[in-house]
Amino acid sequence: MNKPVSLEDVQIAAESWTAEQVLQWAFQTFGNDVAISSAFGVEGMVTIDIASRVSKNFSVFTVDTEFFFPETYSLIDQVEDRYGIKVERVYPLLSPEEQERLHGAALWGRNPDQCCEIRKVEPLRRKLSHLRAWISSIRRNQTENRASARKISWDAKFGLIKINPLADWTDQQVWNHIHQHKVPYNPLHDQSYPSIGCMHCTRAVKPGEDPRAGRWSGFTKTECGLHVINPAPAESAT
Ligand code: SF4
Repeated sequence: MNKPVSLEDVQIAAESWTAEQVLQWAFQTFGNDVAISSAFGVEGMVTIDIASRVSKNFSVFTVDTEFFFPETYSLIDQVEDRYGIKVERVYPLLSPEEQERLHGAALWGRNPDQCCEIRKVEPLRRKLSHLRAWISSIRRNQTENRASARKISWDAKFGLIKINPLADWTDQQVWNHIHQHKVPYNPLHDQSYPSIGCMHCTRAVKPGEDPRAGRWSGFTKTECGLHVINPAPAESAT
């Protein structure tokens, strides 16, 4: 009997794999129990495009906060058309109106952590409880918090394997892929929005500002609580 491959072994090997190889491993290892999570930023578009080249059968879901920009909703429609997939929308338990009734108007302007918990973290946790692995499009040079992200790791916060095929990609590589393969992307990226989230918490950045300065502007918050980097390995990969 073959010795089970430990996650640590796979983690080490995966650091020299291409994004295509990481996704191939993910689909072969987890089948229908792995899915791409995307909010359709430019990195998410690259991940989806590469996934379409290595598999005819891959799943994409989005945690739809119901506060996306119209451009983002339109991009989701384009993704479904171009790749012939149905993007699963995972919604918060509270509608925007119910949230306002329970927690007051514009919670994002008073307590964005609580708003993100309701509209992003809880729906993601609910969705991930049905999977064995999830795929995100974070890159190490996006934020300090993401700098130690591995391509494959154990996500202790949500209790499953997390796969980051673009962990070592640069911004330039992402845009090269977009242009080379004519991948659709959110037109807001061309209007000084390098990072796009909810309408209430995203603004255009000024020349010279950090690319993520437009997210939760005025707060020290830099993450929505979905990406907690924990490179510690779990027992086994399969
Ligand atoms: S990004 Fe803003 S609006 Fe969206 S869930 Fe978080 S706090 Fe709420």
